[in-house]
Amino acid sequence: MRRDEANVLIGDISCLFGTLPLEDRLAWLQSAGHSIVFTTSLGIEDQVVTDALVSALPSARIVTLDTLRLFDETVDLIEETEARYGISIERFLPEPSAVDQFVATYGMNGFYESVEARHACCGIRKVEPLGRALAGADIWITGLRRGQSAARGSVPFAEWDADRELLKINPLADMSLEDIRLRVAERSIPVNPLHLRGYPSIGCAPCTRAIKPGEDERAGRWWWERDEQRECGLHVAGAASALPAA
Ligand code: SF4
Repeated sequence: MRRDEANVLIGDISCLFGTLPLEDRLAWLQSAGHSIVFTTSLGIEDQVVTDALVSALPSARIVTLDTLRLFDETVDLIEETEARYGISIERFLPEPSAVDQFVATYGMNGFYESVEARHACCGIRKVEPLGRALAGADIWITGLRRGQSAARGSVPFAEWDADRELLKINPLADMSLEDIRLRVAERSIPVNPLHLRGYPSIGCAPCTRAIKPGEDERAGRWWWERDEQRECGLHVAGAASALPAA
């Protein structure tokens, strides 16, 4: 998508989305006639998006990044979601040679040893596959919410992703976790059972722990790192062009 075209859409979306229910936000994107990809981690927010997307924006591709380090519960939920909605979720896996090189350099769980190694692992298992998943897309839909963490506190409904030259849409940006839980209950949306065991945010199994009362929703992600802004690189400007060599 061209930047000037995206700017027009960003202006429209910024005015409109706050007044529309979720389904109408997604259906509005249909009229733009672009190639649209939704990336799901199968977390509770993404399950809410999937539930709305299948009826409101059925032309969108739904993809997930199978890092090969996911919880069994997450893998099971991929199939359960496909069966529930009659959809196919495209899996994008890391390049085997890159994984082999990482393991040879850092060890299988070397991401605990340094931020450099952790970023290298996320680059191989998440960021590079995401690039393949979004290749050719004009619009990227995510399940980001402002309430998930301080780092996501200013997530807009729409933004230009300069690295990938596409329009990134965050249709849940203004919704609270309570809003999300209400929709799940009302619509019997299938969710990861780990959410009931203290995991509001679920990523790779070795890098996610349950949180304690009062902690930030994403406090269980890479908990051994002290950077309050820690992310895996999927939603960080510059990460797509800063992939590690390993
Ligand atoms: S979350 Fe952990 S296991 Fe998953 S890609 Fe990142 S460092 Fe690797």
